[in-house]
Amino acid sequence: MERDIYDEDHEAFRGLVKDFIGRYVTNEAIERWNAEGEIDRATMLAAGEAGLIGLSVPEEFGGAGMLQDYRFRTVVMEEVIAAGAGSLAGAFGIQDDLAVPYLVHMGTQEQKAKWLPRMATGEVIGALAMTEPGAGSDLRGIKTTAKKVDGGYLVNGAKTFISSGKTADLVVTFVKTGEGNRPDAFSLVLIENGMEGFEHGKKLHKMGFQGHDTAELSFTDVFVPEENLIGGTEGMGFVQLMMNLPLERLSIAVAAAAAAQAGYDWTVAYTKDREAFGERIIDFQNTRFTIADMSATVDALWAYVDRALLAYKDKKLSAEEAAKIKFWATEREWEVLDAGVQLHGGYGYITEYPIARAFLDARVHRIYGGTNEIMRDIVSRQIAGKR
Ligand SMILES: Cc1cc2nc3c(=O)[nH]c(=O)nc-3n(C[C@H](O)[C@H](O)[C@H](O)COP(=O)(O)OP(=O)(O)OC[C@H]3O[C@@H](n4cnc5c(N)ncnc54)[C@H](O)[C@@H]3O)c2cc1C
Repeated sequence: MERDIYDEDHEAFRGLVKDFIGRYVTNEAIERWNAEGEIDRATMLAAGEAGLIGLSVPEEFGGAGMLQDYRFRTVVMEEVIAAGAGSLAGAFGIQDDLAVPYLVHMGTQEQKAKWLPRMATGEVIGALAMTEPGAGSDLRGIKTTAKKVDGGYLVNGAKTFISSGKTADLVVTFVKTGEGNRPDAFSLVLIENGMEGFEHGKKLHKMGFQGHDTAELSFTDVFVPEENLIGGTEGMGFVQLMMNLPLERLSIAVAAAAAAQAGYDWTVAYTKDREAFGERIIDFQNTRFTIADMSATVDALWAYVDRALLAYKDKKLSAEEAAKIKFWATEREWEVLDAGVQLHGGYGYITEYPIARAFLDARVHRIYGGTNEIMRDIVSRQIAGKR
């Protein structure tokens, strides 16, 4: 089905994204990122220069000022994922959907002025550190503490599974500033590269997103000045996380739809090209029926995702709606990519082929950003009228 959520500005922007891809997202670059386990800084700087990151950064701080119009981010994701570069899409997503929003929407004027201009250029790479070895879904179980001292906080603890964790210069970090696990016992602080006692730990070996770094972080008596408390008010961390989670979940749903679309397109092209038993693979009835199913699922994904994008633009996307689309979209993505791998035969299992990489990348969509079980819990609690 034809989509109708974009106007000429979005399509003009798509042209810029395609130019960038033509120059920087080559097969050689994808292989290099995968081999090195990270996106090189030169590529992030080039993306900043081309205006592909920092999209929600206000113009006064050097960004594109697309505060609520997430459709420009969607264009970036669609094109980068269609180019077979899921890891690059992941790196852009961490910058624009997980790090920048905490400064744009919740930072003090000083924090915005200090960090946003360089986040828009790619000079400063951000990350968001919530998860710990002992606490993922149950975020209020974190153990990293920030103890009040003269002029700031002393942070102690460890984080794990942090996307862009090896390359990040600035980490929005979820810490305990109070006793117990009431929502006001938590804060978000900005931890900077080079602060004494802050270590980027080892890069984790993942099944997918091979070209995007995920790492452990550790903090030993890291002195964090008061001015690095996000928003300047202690005890707001949990509320701040809740404010950004709908966007994070919407972004995963968009990535899922984009990957399903790409997987479908690759599969149609491949099955038209390859032959067996004297026929094209697409001429077998099983293939055609599978492709018809994939096509319908991709249409439904976009219809749902596009509706959510417009709701977000109008500030009407609730936490429950974002949770619902996150679990539904990532599960449809998984079905489409699994079918695509199957129709590629053995080549579908070889990571040189984008379908194989997209399939491996997709697995974590059902886990991070809140697992799909937690998403169902959020949705069903509201339906049941349970807090
Ligand atoms: C590649 C990757 C990148 C990531 N990037 C980041 C990042 O940038 N920043 C960050 O902070 N975190 C990040 N994460 C962490 C991710 O968000 C967590 O792994 C996820 O939230 C799950 O937490 P957990 O791993 O501790 O699993 P657990 O919470 O231990 O869950 C284990 C299982 O139990 C289930 N479960 C838990 N509680 C319930 C419940 N109440 N009801 C039903 N089932 C339940 C879960 O659904 C899951 O199936 C990343 C993870 C990965 C793998």
